Amino acid sequence: MSDTIAAIATPGQPSAIGILRLSGPDTCAALDAVFRAKNGRPAAQQRPRAMVLGELLDETGQVIDSVLCVHFPAPHSYTGEDCAELHCHGSPIVLDTGLRALFAAGCRQAGPGEFTKRAFLNGQLDLLQAESVADLIDAETARQAHNAVCQLDGALSRTVARIYDGLMDMAARFYAVVDYPDEDIEDLQREQMLDTLRRAQNDLEALVAGFSRGRLLKLGVPTVLLGKPNAGKSSLLNALLGYDRAIVTDIAGTTRDTVEEKVTVGGVLLRLIDTAGIRDGGDAVETMGVERSRAAAKQASLALLVLDGSRALTAEDEAAIALANTVPHLIVAVNKSDLPRALDIGALADRFDNVLSVSAATGAGLDTLTDAIAAQFPAGESTGGALLTNARQADAANRALSAVAEARGALRIGMTPDVVLTDCEAALAALGELNGKQVRDDLVDTIFSRFCVGK
Ligand code: GDP
Repeated sequence: MSDTIAAIATPGQPSAIGILRLSGPDTCAALDAVFRAKNGRPAAQQRPRAMVLGELLDETGQVIDSVLCVHFPAPHSYTGEDCAELHCHGSPIVLDTGLRALFAAGCRQAGPGEFTKRAFLNGQLDLLQAESVADLIDAETARQAHNAVCQLDGALSRTVARIYDGLMDMAARFYAVVDYPDEDIEDLQREQMLDTLRRAQNDLEALVAGFSRGRLLKLGVPTVLLGKPNAGKSSLLNALLGYDRAIVTDIAGTTRDTVEEKVTVGGVLLRLIDTAGIRDGGDAVETMGVERSRAAAKQASLALLVLDGSRALTAEDEAAIALANTVPHLIVAVNKSDLPRALDIGALADRFDNVLSVSAATGAGLDTLTDAIAAQFPAGESTGGALLTNARQADAANRALSAVAEARGALRIGMTPDVVLTDCEAALAALGELNGKQVRDDLVDTIFSRFCVGK
């Protein structure tokens, strides 16, 4: 029915181990052409899912590596098809030659994400799980990885399936009423349906609400560092980054692009917006230009406001404070705690929730700052795989939510069953898109084309 695909599944650099992967009906035949087991048995007679030592052969039959081979007979494999992996020494030339031998044995090069796409098409994974595979591979923090692996395990899929099943059950009852107009929906049944819709709405609202957190988790929290010149922004940034970067000298007349840096603080991925002015040892409000700081603050979810604790507040500080106040999450770092205090921390604490004393110079208070950032963006249950992480998912969940809300409204005001049914069907279709039960082929192709080859 389908052909047999093969790919190098590991990066193309010399490494300890490199893996060739294949999937499809001719897996055993291809293995027998390129792999000679020490125990002398052909692939089909090897113990399933067990490592077997042997030799990798090139297309002329010459031995090119000593490898381990593992065969996953269908359907108990990642793709649901006959699958195998050859664990070679991680030499790009060995892997290339081995891959060419597999092609000579009838395999073809796998496209990006084709293994996972086959897993999806064979029902081994739903679309949410398949997308979490890409999230897992791209994860930059342990939290991202945790959310992705819980999603892969089905945390999100189970919620979606529960909503789907509830609505499906309801739709079936409505069809019965439409088919047999003499039957009416009893009050009790109506109550139950309203209850199903209410629960579906709650679940979907939670999913949609989780998206903004999922996005922060996946892309990083857009963060702006604000403060007057010499408050210690670049020092604090360096302390957070954990290393000193050479300060970039500005060549007159060069326009600088927005500079972004990613840094993980307290397990939270921060995306520092426009650190150009800060990096030059200038100040965010002046050097970057007020407009530019304002633009950066507008995009930010977190503002780190740096104040010089060894000096009293000035008008410049107030300008930075005003800007910082426009950002949803604000942490005030009163820097230079190693110097005598001139700034009234008590008065600041009356104005802001999160006021911390730090010293970029000595590192004092940086752990408290780290904790404060982690507390603003808690992992907790939120990363139990329950967070939608991409726009496609959020869009489908939003459409399901509106349709469920419409259905609930229609049922409440006693609309005819066919009206409620239409909304119900719309919600089911959107949920079907979310988990891939009903999704257009071209969309599936687009989703998997973003994966890496070999996945
Ligand atoms: P920015 O203009 O806000 O980026 O400030 P900088 O990070 O360039 O720091 C301005 C000056 O304050 C530099 O001379 C730093 O060495 C000094 N500085 C920064 N943080 C501290 C600190 O915690 N303690 C002390 N004593 N000096 C600091």
